[in-house]
Amino acid sequence: MPQDRGEAHIRDRGPDRVRDRGDACPGALRLHRADDGALARLRLPTGVLTPHQVLVLAETADRLGDGHLSLTSRGNLELRGLGEGCGLGLAELLRDAGLLPDSERHERVRNMVVSPLAGAEVRAWSVRLDALLCAEEWTLELSGRFLFAVDDGRGDVAALAPDVTLLAEPSRTALARTALVRVGRAAYRVAGADAPRAALAAAEAFLAAAREAGTGAWRVRELPTGQDVDVAGHLRRASIAAEHVPDAVLPAGGALAPGLIGASPPGVSVLARLGRVTTAQFRALLPAEEVRVTPWRGFVLPGFPDRAAAEERLHALDRAGFITRADSPWVGVTACTGRPGCAKSLADVRADARPMAVDGGLPVHWSGCARRCGHPQGAWVDVVATAEGAYQTTVQKPTG
Ligand code: SF4
Repeated sequence: MPQDRGEAHIRDRGPDRVRDRGDACPGALRLHRADDGALARLRLPTGVLTPHQVLVLAETADRLGDGHLSLTSRGNLELRGLGEGCGLGLAELLRDAGLLPDSERHERVRNMVVSPLAGAEVRAWSVRLDALLCAEEWTLELSGRFLFAVDDGRGDVAALAPDVTLLAEPSRTALARTALVRVGRAAYRVAGADAPRAALAAAEAFLAAAREAGTGAWRVRELPTGQDVDVAGHLRRASIAAEHVPDAVLPAGGALAPGLIGASPPGVSVLARLGRVTTAQFRALLPAEEVRVTPWRGFVLPGFPDRAAAEERLHALDRAGFITRADSPWVGVTACTGRPGCAKSLADVRADARPMAVDGGLPVHWSGCARRCGHPQGAWVDVVATAEGAYQTTVQKPTG
């Protein structure tokens, strides 16, 4: 087990700690023991799987797990129901498929969401940022919850409450793409070529602030009110030219809807019902040039030769059990693991979950207990178990 430097830091307790224990986030190498067996959480920092990786993951879930893959609200994949002692075999399969970083100690800090429809330039930022993250020793201090977003300008993943956001700005000239690097309410404009390094510098600024505060914060929003994150200073130290952008406004992007997407070439977007697929469904995503995993518990298949081919695939995925239409009542319905996988659950949430008629089209999240794991950002309808088969429903609104 790698030494987690963040845990050492957190053990130094003070009176106003927001976290009183180390980061126990599961990873692909650090499995979590659940009631239905061990759980592995695989980070996909660029959100992209090759066809070979899809097949390896399906095979792995069949051989070692419970024959399903779960998607998380951060675009990660989970294997559940893993047997005792399968960790080494699992690691070998993932390593051989290129699903682990060269520095395996960094696998839990590669927390990144990327706009699923981003073009090559913005996608390259995520690849570069991942490489930078995994090359630095100090980044091991970031918790498994610290989140980067690489947003292509539409505001879709920037809306997921990341800690550090890279937001692509429209090109002012053909050669001069710029990005905003954003931490909390502070935003700085940097050259596109500097964007990945700027995101890394922002994360370093957060760690410095967290150390100074001494409260064990894992995330920017956990810092004490008034605690400064010196992004400008860290950008300067990294020799990155930056312009402060006061009151930067985020584009109001949202979740990618299921259906046909794009025109040249067209693609398809589908959602996994309650964020879980069988390995047969997962394999049904192929053939594809690549499979993009989205933080809305879905998949994007890009690059069909024409609209007819994309439509045909969408129908096939509908038959395979995916949500393929924006007007499906299952869009926006999510659920935590619940029983039997989670010992805390008061109910079999996933069996009970169903669509609800909700004013304003708010997302609906079903939880087996008050922890409400995986609930949506922003306003949402909270359906929480109070006893076997009994649920309390309220509307949750964002604070602050
Ligand atoms: S919300 Fe409660 S029941 Fe559901 S997965 Fe989290 S801890 Fe378990």
